[in-house]
Amino acid sequence: MTGAPSQAGSGTPEAIPARCLVTGGAGFIGSHLVDHLLSLGAGVVVVDDLSTGRRENLAGAAGRVELIESDVEAALRGPLAGARFDAIFHLAASVGVRRVVERPIESIESNVGGAGAVFRYAMDAGPTPGTPARVLFASSSEVYGKSTHSPFTETDDCLYGPTSARRWSYAAGKALGEHLALAHHELHGLPVVVARLFNTVGPRQVGEYGMVLPRFVRAALEGTPLTVHGDGAQSRCFCDVRDVAPALVSLVRSGACAGKVFNVGSDQPITMMDLAGLVIETLGGEARIRLIPYDEAFGPGFEDLRQRRPDLTRVKGAIGFAPSIPLRRTILDVAEHIRQDATRESP
Ligand code: NAD
Repeated sequence: MTGAPSQAGSGTPEAIPARCLVTGGAGFIGSHLVDHLLSLGAGVVVVDDLSTGRRENLAGAAGRVELIESDVEAALRGPLAGARFDAIFHLAASVGVRRVVERPIESIESNVGGAGAVFRYAMDAGPTPGTPARVLFASSSEVYGKSTHSPFTETDDCLYGPTSARRWSYAAGKALGEHLALAHHELHGLPVVVARLFNTVGPRQVGEYGMVLPRFVRAALEGTPLTVHGDGAQSRCFCDVRDVAPALVSLVRSGACAGKVFNVGSDQPITMMDLAGLVIETLGGEARIRLIPYDEAFGPGFEDLRQRRPDLTRVKGAIGFAPSIPLRRTILDVAEHIRQDATRESP
Protein backbone atom coordinates (compact mmCIF):
# COMPACT_ATOMS: atom_id res chain seq x y z
CA MET A 1 0.00 0.00 0.00
CA THR A 2 1.25 3.50 -0.79
CA GLY A 3 0.02 7.03 -0.32
CA ALA A 4 0.31 10.44 1.31
CA PRO A 5 -0.70 11.16 4.89
CA SER A 6 -4.35 12.01 5.55
CA GLN A 7 -5.88 14.53 8.02
CA ALA A 8 -3.57 15.64 10.82
CA GLY A 9 -3.89 14.15 14.30
CA SER A 10 -2.00 12.31 17.00
CA GLY A 11 -2.44 8.90 15.32
CA THR A 12 0.09 8.34 12.53
CA PRO A 13 -1.82 8.09 9.25
CA GLU A 14 -0.78 5.05 7.32
CA ALA A 15 -0.98 4.12 3.65
CA ILE A 16 -4.07 4.67 1.53
CA PRO A 17 -5.81 1.29 1.28
CA ALA A 18 -5.21 0.25 -2.34
CA ARG A 19 -8.17 -2.12 -2.68
CA CYS A 20 -11.38 -1.38 -0.81
CA LEU A 21 -14.78 -2.97 -0.37
CA VAL A 22 -17.65 -0.60 0.43
CA THR A 23 -20.89 -2.25 1.52
CA GLY A 24 -23.83 0.09 0.97
CA GLY A 25 -21.64 1.95 -1.53
CA ALA A 26 -24.59 2.94 -3.75
CA GLY A 27 -26.22 4.70 -0.80
CA PHE A 28 -25.94 8.29 0.28
CA ILE A 29 -22.81 8.23 2.46
CA GLY A 30 -21.35 5.14 0.73
CA SER A 31 -21.32 6.76 -2.71
CA HIS A 32 -19.51 9.86 -1.40
CA LEU A 33 -17.02 7.54 0.29
CA VAL A 34 -16.52 5.74 -3.03
CA ASP A 35 -15.88 9.09 -4.77
CA HIS A 36 -13.33 10.02 -2.12
CA LEU A 37 -11.54 6.64 -2.27
CA LEU A 38 -11.33 6.88 -6.06
CA SER A 39 -9.92 10.41 -5.78
CA LEU A 40 -7.16 8.95 -3.58
CA GLY A 41 -6.37 6.37 -6.26
CA ALA A 42 -7.88 3.34 -4.48
CA GLY A 43 -9.58 0.49 -6.32
CA VAL A 44 -13.17 0.02 -5.12
CA VAL A 45 -15.70 -2.81 -5.13
CA VAL A 46 -19.25 -1.99 -3.99
CA VAL A 47 -21.83 -4.44 -2.72
CA ASP A 48 -25.32 -3.00 -2.46
CA ASP A 49 -28.78 -4.53 -2.80
CA LEU A 50 -30.16 -1.15 -3.95
CA SER A 51 -32.90 -1.34 -1.31
CA THR A 52 -32.45 2.35 -0.51
CA GLY A 53 -29.33 3.04 -2.59
CA ARG A 54 -29.37 4.04 -6.24
CA ARG A 55 -27.22 3.04 -9.19
CA GLU A 56 -27.19 6.73 -10.28
CA ASN A 57 -25.27 7.62 -7.09
CA LEU A 58 -22.28 5.87 -8.66
CA ALA A 59 -22.69 7.55 -12.06
CA GLY A 60 -19.59 9.70 -11.50
CA ALA A 61 -17.59 6.56 -10.69
CA ALA A 62 -18.81 4.60 -13.72
CA GLY A 63 -16.11 2.38 -15.21
CA ARG A 64 -13.91 2.81 -12.13
CA VAL A 65 -15.93 0.84 -9.59
CA GLU A 66 -17.31 -2.69 -9.62
CA LEU A 67 -20.91 -2.86 -8.35
CA ILE A 68 -22.14 -6.21 -7.07
CA GLU A 69 -25.91 -5.88 -6.76
CA SER A 70 -26.59 -8.22 -3.85
CA ASP A 71 -27.36 -8.56 -0.19
CA VAL A 72 -24.09 -8.28 1.78
CA GLU A 73 -24.16 -11.74 3.34
CA ALA A 74 -24.95 -13.42 0.02
CA ALA A 75 -22.15 -11.51 -1.73
CA LEU A 76 -19.55 -12.46 0.91
CA ARG A 77 -20.50 -16.15 0.52
CA GLY A 78 -20.76 -15.91 -3.28
CA PRO A 79 -18.90 -13.59 -5.67
CA LEU A 80 -16.62 -12.14 -2.98
CA ALA A 81 -15.54 -15.46 -1.41
CA GLY A 82 -11.75 -15.53 -1.36
CA ALA A 83 -11.36 -11.91 -2.53
CA ARG A 84 -8.62 -9.76 -0.97
CA PHE A 85 -9.00 -6.22 0.36
CA ASP A 86 -6.87 -3.75 2.27
CA ALA A 87 -9.96 -2.18 3.82
CA ILE A 88 -13.66 -2.91 4.16
CA PHE A 89 -16.11 -0.11 4.94
CA HIS A 90 -19.35 -1.61 6.25
CA LEU A 91 -22.11 0.92 5.66
CA ALA A 92 -24.92 -1.30 4.39
CA ALA A 93 -27.89 -1.11 6.76
CA SER A 94 -31.58 -0.48 6.96
CA VAL A 95 -31.46 3.22 7.75
CA GLY A 96 -33.83 5.87 8.97
CA VAL A 97 -36.38 5.94 11.76
CA ARG A 98 -39.40 5.50 9.49
CA ARG A 99 -37.96 2.46 7.71
CA VAL A 100 -36.99 0.84 10.98
CA VAL A 101 -40.41 1.43 12.50
CA GLU A 102 -42.17 0.10 9.39
CA ARG A 103 -39.89 -2.90 8.69
CA PRO A 104 -38.45 -3.97 12.07
CA ILE A 105 -37.63 -7.62 11.33
CA GLU A 106 -35.74 -6.92 8.11
CA SER A 107 -33.85 -4.07 9.79
CA ILE A 108 -32.77 -6.01 12.86
CA GLU A 109 -31.74 -9.12 10.92
CA SER A 110 -29.86 -7.28 8.24
CA ASN A 111 -28.12 -4.82 10.56
CA VAL A 112 -26.92 -7.36 13.13
CA GLY A 113 -26.42 -10.32 10.77
CA GLY A 114 -24.67 -8.17 8.16
CA ALA A 115 -22.16 -6.78 10.67
CA GLY A 116 -21.33 -10.23 12.03
CA ALA A 117 -20.85 -11.63 8.52
CA VAL A 118 -18.55 -8.75 7.53
CA PHE A 119 -16.33 -9.14 10.61
CA ARG A 120 -15.99 -12.92 10.12
CA TYR A 121 -15.21 -12.42 6.44
CA ALA A 122 -12.66 -9.66 7.15
CA MET A 123 -10.58 -11.97 9.39
CA ASP A 124 -9.15 -13.69 6.31
CA ALA A 125 -9.76 -11.09 3.58
CA GLY A 126 -6.54 -9.07 4.01
CA PRO A 127 -3.90 -8.50 1.32
CA THR A 128 -2.36 -11.96 1.82
CA PRO A 129 -3.99 -15.23 2.92
CA GLY A 130 -4.43 -15.49 6.70
CA THR A 131 -4.29 -11.72 7.24
CA PRO A 132 -7.26 -9.53 8.18
CA ALA A 133 -8.54 -6.55 6.22
CA ARG A 134 -8.97 -3.29 8.07
CA VAL A 135 -12.62 -2.61 8.78
CA LEU A 136 -14.73 0.46 9.46
CA PHE A 137 -18.16 -0.16 10.99
CA ALA A 138 -20.66 2.65 10.42
CA SER A 139 -22.56 2.90 13.67
CA SER A 140 -24.93 5.65 14.72
CA SER A 141 -25.52 8.32 17.34
CA GLU A 142 -28.78 6.43 17.94
CA VAL A 143 -26.64 4.06 20.03
CA TYR A 144 -26.73 6.65 22.84
CA GLY A 145 -30.48 6.13 22.97
CA LYS A 146 -32.46 8.57 25.08
CA SER A 147 -29.67 9.51 27.44
CA THR A 148 -30.04 13.19 28.36
CA HIS A 149 -26.33 13.70 28.90
CA SER A 150 -24.81 16.33 26.62
CA PRO A 151 -22.54 16.28 24.76
CA PHE A 152 -22.36 12.52 24.17
CA THR A 153 -18.90 11.04 24.77
CA GLU A 154 -17.95 7.61 23.52
CA THR A 155 -17.75 6.14 27.03
CA ASP A 156 -21.23 7.33 28.07
CA ASP A 157 -23.90 4.87 29.16
CA CYS A 158 -26.54 4.07 26.57
CA LEU A 159 -30.20 4.25 27.61
CA TYR A 160 -33.02 2.65 25.63
CA GLY A 161 -36.77 2.48 25.97
CA PRO A 162 -38.71 -0.77 26.26
CA THR A 163 -38.55 -3.44 23.54
CA SER A 164 -42.23 -2.75 22.84
CA ALA A 165 -41.15 0.58 21.32
CA ARG A 166 -39.88 -0.36 17.86
CA ARG A 167 -37.71 2.68 17.31
CA TRP A 168 -35.11 1.33 19.79
CA SER A 169 -34.43 -1.74 17.65
CA TYR A 170 -32.21 0.33 15.36
CA ALA A 171 -30.12 1.60 18.30
CA ALA A 172 -29.90 -1.85 19.86
CA GLY A 173 -28.91 -3.41 16.51
CA LYS A 174 -26.13 -0.89 15.96
CA ALA A 175 -24.97 -1.36 19.58
CA LEU A 176 -24.76 -5.12 19.01
CA GLY A 177 -22.76 -4.43 15.85
CA GLU A 178 -20.34 -2.38 17.95
CA HIS A 179 -20.08 -5.17 20.54
CA LEU A 180 -19.30 -7.64 17.76
CA ALA A 181 -16.68 -5.31 16.28
CA LEU A 182 -14.92 -4.75 19.61
CA ALA A 183 -15.06 -8.46 20.47
CA HIS A 184 -13.48 -9.38 17.12
CA HIS A 185 -10.75 -6.84 17.84
CA GLU A 186 -10.08 -8.04 21.38
CA LEU A 187 -10.37 -11.79 20.79
CA HIS A 188 -9.06 -12.13 17.23
CA GLY A 189 -7.04 -8.95 16.60
CA LEU A 190 -9.36 -7.68 13.85
CA PRO A 191 -8.27 -4.10 13.03
CA VAL A 192 -11.79 -2.67 13.16
CA VAL A 193 -12.79 0.90 14.01
CA VAL A 194 -16.29 2.05 14.91
CA ALA A 195 -17.59 5.42 13.64
CA ARG A 196 -20.69 6.62 15.47
CA LEU A 197 -22.15 8.89 12.82
CA PHE A 198 -24.35 11.80 13.87
CA ASN A 199 -26.79 13.39 11.41
CA THR A 200 -25.04 13.42 8.06
CA VAL A 201 -26.45 15.49 5.22
CA GLY A 202 -25.70 16.41 1.62
CA PRO A 203 -26.54 15.73 -2.00
CA ARG A 204 -27.96 12.24 -2.80
CA GLN A 205 -29.68 11.83 0.57
CA VAL A 206 -33.34 11.00 0.07
CA GLY A 207 -36.26 12.16 2.19
CA GLU A 208 -38.49 9.12 1.65
CA TYR A 209 -37.29 7.34 4.79
CA GLY A 210 -37.79 10.26 7.16
CA MET A 211 -34.48 12.11 6.65
CA VAL A 212 -35.25 15.66 7.63
CA LEU A 213 -33.06 17.91 5.49
CA PRO A 214 -33.92 16.55 2.02
CA ARG A 215 -37.57 16.51 3.10
CA PHE A 216 -37.44 20.19 4.05
CA VAL A 217 -35.51 21.18 0.92
CA ARG A 218 -37.90 19.35 -1.41
CA ALA A 219 -40.91 20.96 0.29
CA ALA A 220 -39.33 24.41 0.01
CA LEU A 221 -38.62 23.88 -3.69
CA GLU A 222 -42.18 22.69 -4.28
CA GLY A 223 -43.66 25.51 -2.19
CA THR A 224 -45.45 23.04 0.09
CA PRO A 225 -45.40 23.27 3.91
CA LEU A 226 -42.27 22.02 5.71
CA THR A 227 -43.61 19.54 8.26
CA VAL A 228 -41.83 19.72 11.61
CA HIS A 229 -42.51 16.90 14.09
CA GLY A 230 -43.45 17.69 17.70
CA ASP A 231 -42.88 21.27 18.86
CA GLY A 232 -39.80 21.80 16.66
CA ALA A 233 -37.60 22.70 19.66
CA GLN A 234 -35.67 19.41 19.44
CA SER A 235 -32.13 19.96 18.14
CA ARG A 236 -29.61 18.02 16.09
CA CYS A 237 -26.13 18.64 14.69
CA PHE A 238 -25.77 18.28 10.92
CA CYS A 239 -22.49 17.50 9.20
CA ASP A 240 -21.91 17.54 5.46
CA VAL A 241 -21.17 14.11 4.00
CA ARG A 242 -18.17 15.58 2.16
CA ASP A 243 -16.60 16.22 5.58
CA VAL A 244 -17.62 12.80 6.88
CA ALA A 245 -16.36 10.59 4.02
CA PRO A 246 -12.67 11.63 4.31
CA ALA A 247 -12.86 11.13 8.08
CA LEU A 248 -13.95 7.50 7.60
CA VAL A 249 -10.90 6.89 5.43
CA SER A 250 -8.60 8.59 7.94
CA LEU A 251 -9.97 6.43 10.76
CA VAL A 252 -9.23 3.26 8.81
CA ARG A 253 -5.78 4.48 7.83
CA SER A 254 -4.71 5.12 11.40
CA GLY A 255 -3.71 1.81 12.97
CA ALA A 256 -3.98 3.48 16.40
CA CYS A 257 -7.75 3.89 15.90
CA ALA A 258 -8.42 0.13 15.65
CA GLY A 259 -10.48 -1.28 18.50
CA LYS A 260 -11.93 2.13 19.36
CA VAL A 261 -15.22 3.98 18.96
CA PHE A 262 -15.35 7.54 17.56
CA ASN A 263 -18.12 10.10 17.34
CA VAL A 264 -18.15 11.62 13.85
CA GLY A 265 -20.29 14.62 12.98
CA SER A 266 -20.84 18.28 13.70
CA ASP A 267 -21.11 19.62 17.25
CA GLN A 268 -23.13 22.71 16.25
CA PRO A 269 -26.78 22.16 17.26
CA ILE A 270 -29.79 23.62 15.47
CA THR A 271 -33.47 23.14 16.34
CA MET A 272 -35.79 21.62 13.75
CA MET A 273 -37.76 24.85 13.69
CA ASP A 274 -34.60 26.88 12.99
CA LEU A 275 -33.50 24.36 10.37
CA ALA A 276 -36.84 24.73 8.58
CA GLY A 277 -36.45 28.51 8.78
CA LEU A 278 -32.87 28.35 7.45
CA VAL A 279 -33.97 26.20 4.49
CA ILE A 280 -36.74 28.68 3.59
CA GLU A 281 -34.42 31.66 4.02
CA THR A 282 -31.62 30.05 1.97
CA LEU A 283 -33.83 28.91 -0.90
CA GLY A 284 -36.33 31.78 -0.87
CA GLY A 285 -39.97 31.25 -1.78
CA GLU A 286 -43.23 31.24 0.08
CA ALA A 287 -43.11 27.88 1.89
CA ARG A 288 -44.62 27.74 5.38
CA ILE A 289 -43.86 25.54 8.40
CA ARG A 290 -46.48 23.10 9.70
CA LEU A 291 -46.14 21.32 13.07
CA ILE A 292 -47.42 17.75 13.26
CA PRO A 293 -47.51 15.55 16.39
CA TYR A 294 -45.10 12.60 16.59
CA ASP A 295 -48.05 10.19 16.85
CA GLU A 296 -49.30 11.32 13.47
CA ALA A 297 -45.87 10.95 11.86
CA PHE A 298 -44.65 7.71 13.44
CA GLY A 299 -47.60 6.07 15.22
CA PRO A 300 -48.63 6.04 18.89
CA GLY A 301 -46.01 6.16 21.65
CA PHE A 302 -43.10 7.36 19.51
CA GLU A 303 -40.25 8.75 21.65
CA ASP A 304 -37.89 11.34 20.24
CA LEU A 305 -34.88 13.02 21.81
CA ARG A 306 -34.74 16.70 22.63
CA GLN A 307 -31.12 16.98 21.59
CA ARG A 308 -28.21 14.97 20.33
CA ARG A 309 -24.74 16.53 20.25
CA PRO A 310 -21.37 14.77 20.05
CA ASP A 311 -18.22 15.42 22.00
CA LEU A 312 -15.60 15.41 19.22
CA THR A 313 -12.50 15.47 21.43
CA ARG A 314 -11.51 11.90 20.63
CA VAL A 315 -11.86 12.08 16.83
CA LYS A 316 -10.15 15.47 16.68
CA GLY A 317 -7.21 14.10 18.65
CA ALA A 318 -6.97 10.97 16.54
CA ILE A 319 -7.28 12.32 13.00
CA GLY A 320 -7.60 16.11 13.30
CA PHE A 321 -11.27 15.95 12.27
CA ALA A 322 -12.61 19.47 11.64
CA PRO A 323 -15.83 19.77 9.62
CA SER A 324 -15.68 22.82 7.35
CA ILE A 325 -18.74 22.92 5.08
CA PRO A 326 -21.41 25.36 6.36
CA LEU A 327 -25.04 24.22 6.54
CA ARG A 328 -26.17 26.89 4.07
CA ARG A 329 -23.77 25.47 1.47
CA THR A 330 -25.14 21.99 2.10
CA ILE A 331 -28.74 23.23 1.71
CA LEU A 332 -27.89 24.88 -1.63
CA ASP A 333 -26.14 21.74 -2.90
CA VAL A 334 -28.98 19.45 -1.77
CA ALA A 335 -31.44 21.74 -3.60
CA GLU A 336 -29.30 21.68 -6.74
CA HIS A 337 -29.14 17.90 -6.64
CA ILE A 338 -32.93 17.61 -6.25
CA ARG A 339 -33.44 19.98 -9.21
CA GLN A 340 -31.02 17.97 -11.39
CA ASP A 341 -32.76 14.74 -10.38
CA ALA A 342 -36.12 16.19 -11.40
CA THR A 343 -34.68 17.20 -14.79
CA ARG A 344 -33.30 13.69 -15.34
CA GLU A 345 -36.63 12.09 -14.39
CA SER A 346 -38.83 14.28 -16.60
CA PRO A 347 -38.96 13.12 -20.26
P1 NAD B 1 -28.46 4.72 2.72
O1 NAD B 1 -29.78 4.05 2.91
O2 NAD B 1 -28.35 5.70 1.62
O3 NAD B 1 -27.30 3.67 2.60
C1 NAD B 1 -27.41 2.32 2.98
C2 NAD B 1 -27.07 1.49 1.77
O4 NAD B 1 -27.03 0.13 2.15
C3 NAD B 1 -28.12 1.61 0.64
O5 NAD B 1 -27.45 1.83 -0.57
C4 NAD B 1 -28.84 0.27 0.67
O6 NAD B 1 -29.32 -0.08 -0.61
C5 NAD B 1 -27.73 -0.63 1.17
N1 NAD B 1 -28.19 -1.84 1.89
C6 NAD B 1 -29.06 -1.92 2.92
N2 NAD B 1 -29.17 -3.18 3.37
C7 NAD B 1 -28.34 -3.91 2.58
C8 NAD B 1 -27.99 -5.29 2.55
N3 NAD B 1 -28.51 -6.17 3.44
N4 NAD B 1 -27.13 -5.71 1.61
C9 NAD B 1 -26.58 -4.83 0.72
N5 NAD B 1 -26.85 -3.52 0.71
C10 NAD B 1 -27.72 -3.07 1.64
O7 NAD B 1 -28.12 5.41 4.13
P2 NAD B 1 -26.86 6.26 4.57
O8 NAD B 1 -27.40 7.45 5.23
O9 NAD B 1 -25.88 6.42 3.47
O10 NAD B 1 -26.25 5.33 5.72
C11 NAD B 1 -25.03 4.62 5.57
C12 NAD B 1 -24.60 4.07 6.93
O11 NAD B 1 -24.38 5.15 7.83
C13 NAD B 1 -25.64 3.16 7.58
O12 NAD B 1 -24.97 2.09 8.20
C14 NAD B 1 -26.29 4.06 8.62
O13 NAD B 1 -26.78 3.32 9.71
C15 NAD B 1 -25.13 4.94 9.01
N6 NAD B 1 -25.60 6.23 9.56
C16 NAD B 1 -26.09 7.20 8.75
C17 NAD B 1 -26.50 8.39 9.31
C18 NAD B 1 -27.02 9.53 8.47
O14 NAD B 1 -27.28 10.61 9.02
N7 NAD B 1 -27.20 9.40 7.18
C19 NAD B 1 -26.40 8.60 10.70
C20 NAD B 1 -25.92 7.56 11.48
C21 NAD B 1 -25.50 6.39 10.91
